[in-house]
Amino acid sequence: MARYTEPVCRLCRRQGEKLFLKGQRCLSSKCAIEKRGYAPGQHGPNARARRNKASDYSLQLREKQKVRRIYGLLEAQFRRYYEAALRSRGVTGVELLIALERRLDNTIYRAGFATSRQAARQLVTHQHFNVNGHPVDIASYQVKPGDKITVRDANRKLEYWKTLSGEKNEGNTPQWLTADKASLTALIQSLPTREAIELPIKEQLIVEYYSR
Ligand code: SF4
Repeated sequence: MARYTEPVCRLCRRQGEKLFLKGQRCLSSKCAIEKRGYAPGQHGPNARARRNKASDYSLQLREKQKVRRIYGLLEAQFRRYYEAALRSRGVTGVELLIALERRLDNTIYRAGFATSRQAARQLVTHQHFNVNGHPVDIASYQVKPGDKITVRDANRKLEYWKTLSGEKNEGNTPQWLTADKASLTALIQSLPTREAIELPIKEQLIVEYYSR
């Protein structure tokens, strides 16, 4: 499957804000936004300041790109989520975010089993998890209430999981999910709500972008 392979910190710099794509590094002074908080490119730190005021279109495009990059999707994948949200009965922008939040890789990240969505995706595709007792290696799998996610027995002896199972539960998982690091288990309690997605996202701009 095609995927983005360039340095991800460039995406944050292009966006002009932190997208938290690299786990612990994002919280440290090594973060590229902290060191070079301007758009990448040969024109340097003053290039953005010289540009004219952002148009409605560029604001809509930026917001769409931001969400797409946070969840690590290519344009065609993201558009499919949008089209599915459009066909649903709910509010399109909210339904879009909820579908993204229900992805298995995002759920693993939100459960605290990985430091970034990208790392969570790698764990999923490398077959580290069972869902309801069955192996699932599809990052886009949509979790639903009652789903039980466990680390597969064969993987538990890996150092990564031994270390994680010794850590405390930090209690910052969203309400729709409970996670227990000691038993390496996560349980989906309900569907995610818009309020549980704390990211600063203006989903209406994404709807406007695709409605042009
Ligand atoms: Fe973005 Fe994280 Fe890189 Fe900072 S360290 S620029 S927040 S991906």
